[in-house]
Amino acid sequence: MGDRVVIIGAGQAAAQLALSLRQGKFSGSICVFGDEPHQPYQRPPLSKKFLSESAAPESLFLRPANYWREQGVDIGVGIRVERVDRSRQRVVLADGGEAEFDHLILATGTRARELRVPGMALKGVFSLRRIDDVLRLRVALDDARRIVIVGGGYIGLEVAAVMRAAARDVVILEAEDRVLKRVTSPVVADYFDALHRRRGVDVRTGTGLAAIEGEARVTAVRLADGARLPADLVLVAVGARANDELATAAGLECADGIVVDAFAKTIDPTIFAVGDCTRLPSRRYGRRVRLECVQNAIDHAKAVAASILGHPESYDPVPWFWSDQYDVKLQMAGLGEGYAEALVVGDAPAGKFSVEYRSGDRLIAVDAINDGRAYMSGRRRIAQETEAIVSPGNA
Ligand SMILES: Cc1cc2nc3c(=O)[nH]c(=O)nc-3n(C[C@H](O)[C@H](O)[C@H](O)COP(=O)(O)OP(=O)(O)OC[C@H]3O[C@@H](n4cnc5c(N)ncnc54)[C@H](O)[C@@H]3O)c2cc1C
Repeated sequence: MGDRVVIIGAGQAAAQLALSLRQGKFSGSICVFGDEPHQPYQRPPLSKKFLSESAAPESLFLRPANYWREQGVDIGVGIRVERVDRSRQRVVLADGGEAEFDHLILATGTRARELRVPGMALKGVFSLRRIDDVLRLRVALDDARRIVIVGGGYIGLEVAAVMRAAARDVVILEAEDRVLKRVTSPVVADYFDALHRRRGVDVRTGTGLAAIEGEARVTAVRLADGARLPADLVLVAVGARANDELATAAGLECADGIVVDAFAKTIDPTIFAVGDCTRLPSRRYGRRVRLECVQNAIDHAKAVAASILGHPESYDPVPWFWSDQYDVKLQMAGLGEGYAEALVVGDAPAGKFSVEYRSGDRLIAVDAINDGRAYMSGRRRIAQETEAIVSPGNA
């Protein structure tokens, strides 16, 4: 086992990998480089509680700074890796410094997808991915009454819920014909659409954004049909794309995500990639997937640690995810894309129900609304029933 591990990115996956290596008695050096000015932290609260509270960044840290020191994990924050030199097994840092590796792990995550419309650079236009985005947003919210959220995905809807709790006027613009279109079925999307409307959000589906307007700062948005809506603050939440440029430049295969095998290895035996930035083979679902969830960041990192520690395990998860909006908890397990049948179980009008997605005779995904029990049992059943399609040929 080579004894120098370098991890690029200091997010959820990087932290878990360092922890798992030390828990597995890895005695070599572990060096983590992260371009944000913070210790590794959890992102989910950014669009939920942390946005509305005045809590300090430290409250999101996965471990206190002294913990990493005690574990002999060298976390370099505010340090961007500019290049991977595969032939010399080194990474090159923004300040020109270099670090040598025996195992390199790319844990570079994703960044907010940008919209190509005029006005994106105006003051008062935000995306939400990092602690520092929230710190700036909190300040801007002090004098913002009319909020326009572009994108009706999880982050957009979660932020809408926080904004309504703070009595702001909120409009959601969704280009598709329903919210959450990419990730769930019409029945669940309709439930959340109605929930937000009941709470006073102006949800506009099938509505494209043409431009963001203002002199120095945003004052309005112009819609594709020419209508104008006044706005003090615009949040663009239209998805994320993988930070895979370093890998591409290093000659590693990428396809909106760094392509890895079932052991999180790239085509270079010394280089792994982990978490949101990867495109990994799912034998359960018979395709390559890019997952954006904490479960994947953690479990994928554990799989990489196992490989480095010399007992590789193939990784093929049932992914799971959650979202909190107002007092509603959505928990999702599996991947529902391509389902043939959606079965509603429980009391939908009362707001406690689940939707089971089936393909043939298999349960492939479940969405549970305020129903933790349905979620847990669904997750178990998906694991059993999708295992049946695992075969060496379909990765
Ligand atoms: C607002 C928000 C809410 C979310 N809510 C949920 C939720 O409710 N449930 C859930 O399961 N998941 C949620 N997620 C997703 C979850 O946070 C991610 O899946 C998880 O953080 C992925 O971990 P990661 O380590 O792969 O990437 P990240 O946590 O994104 O970390 C990657 C890090 O690498 C850094 N980096 C990139 N390139 C370089 C470079 N060249 N040099 C140095 N550093 C670099 C990045 O800046 C970043 O700090 C949410 C995400 C966001 C943004």
